[in-house]
Amino acid sequence: MSDIYDLVKRYPWLPSLKTYYSDIALKNPLDFISEIFSSNKSEELESRVLNLFNDAFNKIEHLSEYELDEINIYVYLILRILLYIINDKILSNRIANIYSKTTYNELNKENEYNLYYIYQDLNLKVIYEEQPFVYKKFVVKEQKEIFKTNFKISFLDYLKLASNLKDEYRKLVNNALLQGYVYIKPENINRLLQEHVRKKLLIQNNEVSSDFEKFKERLFEIHEFKKLYTTITKIWESKKEEFEYSIDITFKEGKDYSGILPPCIKEILSKAQEGQNLVHTERLFILWFLNSLKYPEDKIINVFSTLPDFDREKTAYQVKYAMKKGYTPYSCKSLKSYNLCFANEYKDPICLEGYYSRMQDEQKFISHPLKYIEVKEYRDSKKLKKTKNQSQDQK
Ligand code: SF4
Repeated sequence: MSDIYDLVKRYPWLPSLKTYYSDIALKNPLDFISEIFSSNKSEELESRVLNLFNDAFNKIEHLSEYELDEINIYVYLILRILLYIINDKILSNRIANIYSKTTYNELNKENEYNLYYIYQDLNLKVIYEEQPFVYKKFVVKEQKEIFKTNFKISFLDYLKLASNLKDEYRKLVNNALLQGYVYIKPENINRLLQEHVRKKLLIQNNEVSSDFEKFKERLFEIHEFKKLYTTITKIWESKKEEFEYSIDITFKEGKDYSGILPPCIKEILSKAQEGQNLVHTERLFILWFLNSLKYPEDKIINVFSTLPDFDREKTAYQVKYAMKKGYTPYSCKSLKSYNLCFANEYKDPICLEGYYSRMQDEQKFISHPLKYIEVKEYRDSKKLKKTKNQSQDQK
């Protein structure tokens, strides 16, 4: 079993940081930064923080460097301060995703003793049972699959941790609940902790305090810190556009679909682009939708690459499978029932007013997002033709 000091070095977001490294954790941020940047650890720290940002800028899925030493604690604390003062939602999401994903991988390498300690430290009501408990059995075509675990977590803690993850299979009713405890494999608790760590690094708008500018000014008096901040923000400025348009909608040479997508798709793509989590139905919908537009496999996979739990291998398998099966994307009716229709929020005239069908001589409502594309494309081409005619008339 690892020493608690080591666990805190590996996971600086643990509450024990305040107890075992109180000299660091309880310090005023300005004093902490001033001291650390004038120490002999400064160079190493700067290089690690910069590497971390570069991994995020280069869209690498896991941190290329994650040393489990005391500097790792400083990296985490500096990271939080930097994200706070940079105050950029896309960048925070990107960093939070890559950092929390690395945390998840590290947690999965821990033995059960260490995991138990980590859960206790987070004040989670987790119980370890000596004998593994069988909580699910599947029998498909004479193949038996048995799910067992030594861990159970109080349903209240489970709900608290899973509140942000809205997938169907995480709902309490779809889990093995017995006498107030959910039987769960440690890797599934770790996935919930990944979300916990991700949230810790995200900057909420209301978190920016009124003396933000003053705090920033004081921080910039520390030369090394300002230098690091300037380097990071300069790279970010040059990369930002790439991130804003990272979801490339063009799937045919010379054809750009970004302007003709329905609100339901735009909303999911913008969530993915910001690195937010997508629920299962959103993932399926976007996958089936892009597939029906004959979007190339690698581009569909890349749409998912910014998600907090992205796993390239698994996604590639699911994308290939969906492409083979050729599933039809959800209709507007289904999307409305899943609360995934955003016609009102986007005030979209095609979705709200429908279109005139010449064949049926009547005004019709959009019943499918693919129909939306057809109508929008038709209207845009008419508009373009009209503009061309007008400019020729003027000549
Ligand atoms: S009306 Fe249909 S196409 Fe338009 S946003 Fe809603 S679900 Fe999407």
